[in-house]
Amino acid sequence: MKLVLATGNKGKLREFKKMCEDEVIPFSDLLGEFDIVEDGDTFAQNALIKARAIYEKLGEEYLVIADDSGISLPILNGAPGIYSARYAGEDVTDKDNLYKLVDEVKAKGVESTPAYYTAAIAIVCKYGEYVVHGWMHGDVLATTRGDKGFGYDPMFVPSGFNETLGELDDSVKSEISHRGKALALAKPIIGMLMGK
Ligand code: IMP
Repeated sequence: MKLVLATGNKGKLREFKKMCEDEVIPFSDLLGEFDIVEDGDTFAQNALIKARAIYEKLGEEYLVIADDSGISLPILNGAPGIYSARYAGEDVTDKDNLYKLVDEVKAKGVESTPAYYTAAIAIVCKYGEYVVHGWMHGDVLATTRGDKGFGYDPMFVPSGFNETLGELDDSVKSEISHRGKALALAKPIIGMLMGK
């Protein structure tokens, strides 16, 4: 079986490639770009929707992994959550979403507030479907610092650090991130399935 990643997000792809010793193929290399309607109510449902859509097109020779992730702020009742990729609207950039969240935090009259990232990784292949989760807790600032990472990283300070993920190296982020933690749980499952 070949390992395929069901994401078109360049930031996620870069992180997955660094974290996986195995070669992961982005689905667009095999199928080109196409839209998948993510209409689930949870990160897990949306990750499964993406993985199933690609698996159905590729077939039994493939093991498909998909990540659905986002950031949640208790001060905003959990927003943007599963809507993180389209917080500022449809067809927006990561920067539009970032600055919208900065504005929302500013509007609450605070300089920083607790937040957490969630990643659900779904694995779909001929042997079945699996989902694992990882979380990263910290605070978001009412400003941005640094330009590393992607998405909301320039405003997110992980617990135990003074720098934002926009200032910290990708290698630090991989060690502590929601995606890194979910992938650590996914790897033994992927290993078991690939060895069958
Ligand atoms: P998805 O591709 O539908 O899972 O959308 C995920 C969105 O959540 C991204 O577009 C980012 O806005 C945000 N996000 C998820 N993980 C991260 C991360 O590690 N850093 C920054 N933003 C992230």
